[in-house]
Amino acid sequence: MHTQLADFLKDTPQGNEAAAILRTCVHCGFCTATCPTYQLLGDELDGPRGRIYLLKQLIEGARVTRTTQLHLDRCLTCLSCQTTCPSGVRYGRLLDIGREITEQRVRRPLAQRALRWWLRAVLPYEARFGPLLKLGQLVRPVLPRALKSLVPAPHRGDTTWPAVQNGARRFALLRGCAQPALAPQINAASARVLQRLGIRLLEAPQAVCCGALNHHLSATEQALQQMRTNVDVWSNLLDDGVEALIVTASGCGATIKQYGELLAHDTQYSAKAERVARHTLDLAEVMSDSDLQRLGRAEAAPSIACHVPCTLQHAQRLPTRIQELLGVLGFNLTRTRDAHLCCGSAGTYSILQSGIAEKLRSRKLEALTVERPQCIVTANIGCLHHLQTGTQLPVRHWIELVDAYCR
Ligand code: SF4
Ligand code: SF4
Repeated sequence: MHTQLADFLKDTPQGNEAAAILRTCVHCGFCTATCPTYQLLGDELDGPRGRIYLLKQLIEGARVTRTTQLHLDRCLTCLSCQTTCPSGVRYGRLLDIGREITEQRVRRPLAQRALRWWLRAVLPYEARFGPLLKLGQLVRPVLPRALKSLVPAPHRGDTTWPAVQNGARRFALLRGCAQPALAPQINAASARVLQRLGIRLLEAPQAVCCGALNHHLSATEQALQQMRTNVDVWSNLLDDGVEALIVTASGCGATIKQYGELLAHDTQYSAKAERVARHTLDLAEVMSDSDLQRLGRAEAAPSIACHVPCTLQHAQRLPTRIQELLGVLGFNLTRTRDAHLCCGSAGTYSILQSGIAEKLRSRKLEALTVERPQCIVTANIGCLHHLQTGTQLPVRHWIELVDAYCR
């Protein structure tokens, strides 16, 4: 697709990158078939090919309108289109660039600006989000139904880390921002299981969020600054001999693995960021590189439907890793449909585009429960909470079941 860059983008890294990505698109439309918003809304502009057209117009200098912004907002950034595309079009990166330009050129209504500001000011800060969540959980029983679904019930489960940490291999575990408040048992279960596999864990110091939230809300400079801070801290860990950074929330993992790409134009940070990205692993990657016989087999476990988050299957390209692990450990996995489709969580999407998110969740829950599982497992705290608000079935992180049932 030939592109004539607008003057304000000529000879800029952003402009050159966007033009290079656009050149790879042959406009075949294969990607529309696997796009959840196109399937739901049936509008070409709510599918990847239509959005690519909008992005092309935008970087060629056409007037950007609220309508353009709306179609870009409705994109889940699930990257299902990217894994479908036979030409390897890096749609996600093109969308990042286009959204940032749109954000600078189209002023959002006040209510939207306020909500986006609030999300960025609260969610990525455990010290702000944690107390607010506790307060919400206190009044949860008397909240109206619509509000209740926004406040997750208090977590259940064992939050203790192994008393003694030993083992030949040494890794750092990312703490996360919202996850420690919502579900601290996930990292604790990971530490206990990894200890049994001979892996010593330390909690990675984390001064700030991984940057995912700001990045997805097009607050690019703030996101990059958070990434630089983390790159400094985690580079020190690697210098100290830590093998890699383990992430139990696939959304955070996908962002950290992108650090090299996102900081590629920063001469001071590009190499360090690339190193951190290369040494970041999803929990499932570390587990599948370990001797699973040490965990024994799952006993008396419920039947499980597995929802692989988009950030694990499309962004990190690990579409079957969890199912393989759970299969080897003897869990009974039930059949599901349309595994490639997003559940509608997508970071803050479930809050900002709640109508579409709820419809996608209903479809996803239907697809997950065709064989009547007793439990749903996933690998990202956002998906876990979003799915849980739509079903009576328990929704857990898969490591919680490994911890509970493998003996
Ligand atoms: S993004 Fe890929 S699949 Fe979609 S229209 Fe372009 S080349 Fe075809
Ligand atoms: S990222 Fe997901 S929602 Fe967005 S265009 Fe691609 S498939 Fe559709």
